Amino acid sequence: MQRVSFRPFIIFALIAAVIVTAGVVLYWRQVTILLEKDVKIHIADAARDSAGDFDRLVQTDKEILTASALPLEDSYPWKDESFLPEMLARLDQRDHFNLIGVALADGQIIYSTPSDRPLSQLVVRDVLRNTAHNEFYIAVRPREGKYTSSILIQAVPLDPNDGTPVGALFSVQKEGYYRDVLALSSMGTNGHAMVVRRNGDVVLTYENLPAKNIFSILERYTLDAPTTLESVRQDIAQGKSVLVGYHTTEDLHNFLQFVPLAINDWYLVAAVPAKYVEEQATQVAKLSLVLFGLVFFVFYFLLFFIMRVRDDSNRQLFTTAFVDPLTGADNFNRMCEQFDNKLAGLNRQAALVIFDINKFKVINDLHGYERGNEVLKRVAQVLQTELAPEESFCRLSADNFVLLLKYDEKRAFLKRLKAMSTQLKRNCTVEDSCLMLDIAFGIYEITEDLPFYIMLDRAHLALEHAKTRTFDKCEFYDAADRNRIVAEQQIENTMESALANGEFEVYLQPKCDFVTGEILGAEALVRWIHEDRVVRPDEFIPLFERNGFILKLDMFILEECARLLSMWQANSMPVVPLAVNFSRLHLNDARFIPQMRRIMAQYNVPNKLIEAEITESVIFNNLERAQEVIGGLHLYGFPVAMDDFGSGYSSLNVLKELKFDSIKLDKEFLSGFEENPRAQKVIEGAINMIKTLGVKVVTEGVETREQAEFLRKCGADLAQGYFFSRPVTVTTFEQLLQKKTLL
Ligand code: C2E
Ligand code: MG
Ligand code: MG
Repeated sequence: MQRVSFRPFIIFALIAAVIVTAGVVLYWRQVTILLEKDVKIHIADAARDSAGDFDRLVQTDKEILTASALPLEDSYPWKDESFLPEMLARLDQRDHFNLIGVALADGQIIYSTPSDRPLSQLVVRDVLRNTAHNEFYIAVRPREGKYTSSILIQAVPLDPNDGTPVGALFSVQKEGYYRDVLALSSMGTNGHAMVVRRNGDVVLTYENLPAKNIFSILERYTLDAPTTLESVRQDIAQGKSVLVGYHTTEDLHNFLQFVPLAINDWYLVAAVPAKYVEEQATQVAKLSLVLFGLVFFVFYFLLFFIMRVRDDSNRQLFTTAFVDPLTGADNFNRMCEQFDNKLAGLNRQAALVIFDINKFKVINDLHGYERGNEVLKRVAQVLQTELAPEESFCRLSADNFVLLLKYDEKRAFLKRLKAMSTQLKRNCTVEDSCLMLDIAFGIYEITEDLPFYIMLDRAHLALEHAKTRTFDKCEFYDAADRNRIVAEQQIENTMESALANGEFEVYLQPKCDFVTGEILGAEALVRWIHEDRVVRPDEFIPLFERNGFILKLDMFILEECARLLSMWQANSMPVVPLAVNFSRLHLNDARFIPQMRRIMAQYNVPNKLIEAEITESVIFNNLERAQEVIGGLHLYGFPVAMDDFGSGYSSLNVLKELKFDSIKLDKEFLSGFEENPRAQKVIEGAINMIKTLGVKVVTEGVETREQAEFLRKCGADLAQGYFFSRPVTVTTFEQLLQKKTLL
């Protein structure tokens, strides 16, 4: 069976996979680039935010310091020495700064907590120098005095006279104060910030750095093109924001975002490892890929599902159209469809074979349909294994299979069929039954380019022929068979009209007394006068027996005989009993005897003048029925003769059981009897035996005087044969009847 191919699907899937993969790669790149951009923006934002926070922090401090300086300036000149410590202590209560103090121009320092003097004189001098011109001062000092880490010192001038400051109010913030800002919290734990000067000197760090200048750090690394250290320096010198990517010696990729601060020449530098950027990009890309994959999967699943559904429905259609539901093998439609291709595949050296399991019905009847079906399935299985791939077969109907087989040479072919038949018989029996398949093969060797159905007809014809054989039921198509069929067809087409047109005529063959030669009766034999030809019954009776027309024809002959007898009676002509042949088909026809009686009554002829001839083979096959019919005929006074005694499988038992009035010895008894003394003995014995039963013996086919003489001696009663007369027309017969003797 043709399967719906998945190849286009696979090719499509491969192409789609390539396109999707290319798409994914491109998409990945694009997403990475976009995300990198995005993340860089994010880094810049984070850095800007941090810078803003830092600026704001410092601004707040500046404002607090400035505000705190005001009351000090307002109360200048300070009353006494305790004023400033008291004021500072009060200011310190706000607890905003770690430390607060006043540096006076003369170098004196007053702290909010007098006991603690943590800052060096150097720092104080710095504060005074930087605020001397009324400027806000901010600086970072590493490990100043008691402080173990960096501190932020801020200072505002104290200028009560609006001229030269008298000192400065300063504050100290510890490292932790700005640490939060430098933690770059918006980047999670992925980055941190530092504060550097424009020359790169590090002012504040979140964590320890390997050098004190950021440029000297960058010098050691490779910067991402097109940035160079020089370009960075220039940009920073101009106060621009810059993003710098670089690879460390350990090949770690990092970014530095420089953002200028509002304080001094300071820059906030956000340091973020590229890993963070990549991780972000990878995560998004991965998510996209998963989505992609999901969509792809769903798409393919749907596609596959649709294809499966389509495939299933195609297969279903195919099965309905081309598969025999019982055996699962090809059906006739499939065979027709493939026939030309298959035949070409066999180079037209092929034979079309039909085989039939004789009496398959018996299997069904005896073992049930299921067993019967099982046998047919097994037949298909055996054929499947027996046939070459280029050959084919199908189940035509019930137990009929058609095979297209390779054909080389007759003997080899017949041998193959025989082997096939053996295989079938061996494998396809009904279990627990010794019932053997009886297979008949009809073969048409393909020699002409004919339509398939004609070849099939021919194989059929051969099969019909094969079925009539007892052994080796294998028959080749013969053109003569076909001619016969055609002729028979013609006969069938014309038989009804022939009967209506009176083309069937009764010929009469006298039955004579051996000694006197007197005509004591006659057998009515039908002739078909067709187109000026007298057609003998052998040419049409077998066909009429097959198509049932014989029932009509026999009754027609009977009627003709009855009409004749009635006419003879009416015209006071000599009347002799006439024998009419009745086909075996009448035996099973309930209308048989009633019809006979009706016809006889119609012509008012006594029944005893019509003798019914029934052939021996029929009687032998249906003994009981024959008994009934003979009984019925006798009941109404019709004499009955057994025709052709000795031609078939006569059983003497038949003679004992059936009460015939006469028995007609078949003409075959006489063939070659002159040369064969044993034949003579058999005839003599048969006649004697029949005579002892009190039955008349009529001998058919008496052709010679010697035969007549011999049969007379044997005691036969009547003779029928060419020696006395051939079957003749009614007119001729009437003339013969006028004669006293035919001898
Ligand atoms: P049958 O009933 O045995 O008829 C005898 C056949 O032997 C006739 O052949 C007859 O012509 C032939 N015959 C007679 N004498 C001789 C002879 O000396 N030598 C040879 N060789 N043949 C002889 P026919 O007329 O051709 O009939 C053939 C058969 O056809 C008949 O055999 C009968 O069985 C059947 N038949 C004929 N007419 C009818 C009919 O009307 N109805 C039926 N059912 N069968 C008929
Ligand atoms: Mg006869
Ligand atoms: Mg006969």
